[in-house]
Amino acid sequence: MPANSMEELVSLCKRRGFIFPSSDIYGGLQGLYDYGPLGVELKNNLKAAWWRSMVYDRDDVEGLDASILTKPTTLQYSGHEATFTDPMVDCRNCKGRFRADHLEAAKCPNCGSGDLTEPRDFNLMFKTAVGPVDDGSSFAYLRPETAQAIFTNFKNVLDATSRRLPFGIAQIGKAFRNEITPRNFIFRVREFEQMELEFFVRPGEDDAWHERWVELRLEWWEQQGVPRDRIELYHVPQDELAHYSKATVDLMYHFPHGVEELEGIANRTDFDLGAHSKGQADLGITSNVPDNRDSNARLAVQDLEAKKWFVPFVIEPSAGVDRGFLAVLNEAYQEQDLGDGKSRTVLSLPSHLAPIKAAVLPLKRNHEGIVAKAKGLKQELQRLGLGRILFEDTGNIGKGYRRHDEVGTPYCMTVDFDSLEDNSVTVRSRDTMEQSRMAMADIPAFLRENLAS
Ligand code: ATP
Repeated sequence: MPANSMEELVSLCKRRGFIFPSSDIYGGLQGLYDYGPLGVELKNNLKAAWWRSMVYDRDDVEGLDASILTKPTTLQYSGHEATFTDPMVDCRNCKGRFRADHLEAAKCPNCGSGDLTEPRDFNLMFKTAVGPVDDGSSFAYLRPETAQAIFTNFKNVLDATSRRLPFGIAQIGKAFRNEITPRNFIFRVREFEQMELEFFVRPGEDDAWHERWVELRLEWWEQQGVPRDRIELYHVPQDELAHYSKATVDLMYHFPHGVEELEGIANRTDFDLGAHSKGQADLGITSNVPDNRDSNARLAVQDLEAKKWFVPFVIEPSAGVDRGFLAVLNEAYQEQDLGDGKSRTVLSLPSHLAPIKAAVLPLKRNHEGIVAKAKGLKQELQRLGLGRILFEDTGNIGKGYRRHDEVGTPYCMTVDFDSLEDNSVTVRSRDTMEQSRMAMADIPAFLRENLAS
């Protein structure tokens, strides 16, 4: 069980090239981070695992990759313009601005002054000008969630694929929120990625599907190395629900800074599809949401037997990639005592998430024969399509093993003088630290078997 501090994770991320503060050489920009050489691999692997489980392993989900810039009308009818706000107070003394619901006393957390304004709503959406003239007349929002483009594309996807309920649309992509107090490393940032599924079901079947998706998502996190007993379920009380939700279950993970939301699984009812539809009265549909005078689409489906139209309900598992990254890293990170005053840092990632799957190390730097053999092995293994295989010519094998333990590389292969004669190499395992000799010809099958998870 990890008992890691955020500082340990931040330090590993910077030192080994997982994550850097954004705009670092200019002093940084608060609430933004850049993923480095290993971070981008781990993040891509996490997203690929989600996509595989949502789109490839199921036969009732289609994918989508929609624009980030979003027409204001979309976010007007979705309710985000009116409600996507946090209550803020300003300190008249130091001019600091804070979330009213995060204040512990009626005092400024910065300077301690009690001279605070009344709470005011602050919209979290970023705006940007569209087109050559920036006079405020033509702007778009940077989407605050990926979900809305799934709803506005509902009919396009349905027409293109002839799907029947229940079916889902999955999307992974950036979302932006002007968080007042970005903090806790990549936990709360202003630019992040979401992995969202909108799963459309018949009204009446929504509660059962909601429960099912909570279970499926817990199973998935377990496969990423985040065990069930490290996640608490929070059934959001009625008075805290978002405007579109009938019921929401948050998966609360034990992050290093506390138990907080990793993923939210909401029953969004027929709110969004209804809100983006033009009047549907002539289809016999009455809706609880205000009439939409700007949309030209009807986001409804027909019940062929009953010959009736209805608006599907939607269950939404919405996970943060960055929070997922942090959880996976936290679970995998261990300081191991090896006895005799020795220790090692090891990242016990599931192999499908490891940034580097195997490293090929020549025993002797610049030795023509050994280097050529090692490079040949790297190329051959790379072609297996298992992910990144690294050739690394640093010459210090012991240090190489330690470094690869620290970044989670499951296997290192050392090519030495004997390899030139017998075509075998030393294979060293991250988890057991055992070393064994293996014929080069057997390595592809070994990796295929041991890296498949
Ligand atoms: P919180 O209450 O922590 O602000 P939220 O309930 O507003 O989160 P949702 O709108 O449910 O979050 O978004 C779905 C997921 O997107 C969250 O579970 C989280 O993983 C991720 N997410 C939301 N806001 C951020 C953020 N500022 N930084 C990183 N990830 C975020």
